[in-house]
Amino acid sequence: MDCLFCKIAAGQIPSQKLYEDDKVLVFRDIDPQAPFHALIIPKEHIASAGAVTHENSAIVAYIFEIAAKLAAEHALTGGFRLVTNCGADAGQTVPHLHFHMLAGRLLGWPPG
Ligand code: AMP
Ligand code: ZN
Repeated sequence: MDCLFCKIAAGQIPSQKLYEDDKVLVFRDIDPQAPFHALIIPKEHIASAGAVTHENSAIVAYIFEIAAKLAAEHALTGGFRLVTNCGADAGQTVPHLHFHMLAGRLLGWPPG
């Protein structure tokens, strides 16, 4: 499949890995929007949050578990934001489910 994040998950395209196991990969965003900006992706191809179903939804809970572990490991004591863009209006540019994990500065709300 011609999917950027599937290729990163398969190791065909390099990334700055922060964590990896059989289900998920965490790597640094190439265009960081905060001092800490990681992307957490399932290794399984899921196109977006809009493609989450009863059959594949367990990975979403697992991703949140990994995010909490990362926050502890990287001492993100000020907090963090975990966000997924779904579809054109939200600005999704890579059609493989990913959660942005942002931390290290005061994050505005609402997002633009
Ligand atoms: P989104 O716009 O929400 O779909 O997020 C896609 C993110 O992937 C953007 O923040 C990009 O900076 C990031 N990105 C694109 N290509 C790469 C890459 N090769 N390695 C790491 N991050 C990437
Ligand atoms: Zn993919």
